Amino acid sequence: MKAIAFRGVHDVRVESIADPRIVEPTDAVVRITTSAVCGSDLHQYHGRVPGIEPGAILGHEFMGVVEEVGREVRAVSKGDRVVAPFSISCGRCEWCRRGLPTQCSTTGRAVFGGRFGKQYPGAQAERIRVPFADFMCEKISSDMSDEQALFLGDILSTGYACAENGGIRPGDSVAVFGCGPVGLLALQSAHLFGPARIFAVDRVDYRLKLAEELGATPVNLDKGDPVEQLRRVTGGSGPDVALEAVGHEVPFAQAIQAVRAGGTVSSVGVYVEQSIGFPAREAFFKDLTLKMGICNARNYIVPLMPLVQVGKLQPARIITHTLPLGDAPRGYKIFDQKEDRAIKVLLKP
Ligand SMILES: [Zn+2]
Ligand SMILES: [Zn+2]
Repeated sequence: MKAIAFRGVHDVRVESIADPRIVEPTDAVVRITTSAVCGSDLHQYHGRVPGIEPGAILGHEFMGVVEEVGREVRAVSKGDRVVAPFSISCGRCEWCRRGLPTQCSTTGRAVFGGRFGKQYPGAQAERIRVPFADFMCEKISSDMSDEQALFLGDILSTGYACAENGGIRPGDSVAVFGCGPVGLLALQSAHLFGPARIFAVDRVDYRLKLAEELGATPVNLDKGDPVEQLRRVTGGSGPDVALEAVGHEVPFAQAIQAVRAGGTVSSVGVYVEQSIGFPAREAFFKDLTLKMGICNARNYIVPLMPLVQVGKLQPARIITHTLPLGDAPRGYKIFDQKEDRAIKVLLKP
């Protein structure tokens, strides 16, 4: 089958590899109908993920149709349309039972196409082996398109969790730092909690434009310090909640500086650095609540699905490109370079 392999910095290639097969009796093989390029794939693309081997198959956002199941799989069968979370979890270990499947000790916190824990080939391919299929696979009703369902496994759940962790209350003002795919979905999700105003911070004009269409007031980084801009539009105090969806030191610090005393900063951007500096003293004396972490996407797939079905969440609005799988190298490039107004790139095998 065809799959997208990492070959070096800024070098991903379409390669021919063996089809996946059932290895464990709890596995399923899924024929992928849609996958995507995620912002965290770009960390690998930039060569910033230690231990990534040339030839590794990339990608962790996917959905498709079950093609084959191992003899112990009960919850899904051949022909079912399914979505799965980006992280691979057994559903049975202590961490999975605590509701923290991304901490799964059986897989060592593995991610499809990722570099920690056990290594599992990624989802930018024609097929994928899904371990622990009973826990991992969620059936999708036929009235949902791939474009509506796909992001439940990663960026929609992550964006929603970001908004939820922000503890937004009716009437609040919310600032979203970063208008990439996760930031835009955090913005959409924030509306569900009843804020009075949402501000969207970025410097890419076409991304700010979409944020505006999604109900946010743009705050352009090129027009000055976002902390001062946010103070000005919130009567001097700063927003009640900041949602950070970038994963770098600067926006994290800006979120802390911008938010009002007693406010909350919720961070879901993926950090590649081992540690960053942040204004701890300011956070302390302003009495802030800081919340961060990798999203336990499995926990959100079922509850968010009806919100997508009735249109209260419209994740497909961020899709700008749908390319054949074989065009993935171009998909990476335009997403990375923000060319051709790219926001979210889907791949169709
Ligand atoms: Zn991702
Ligand atoms: Zn587990």
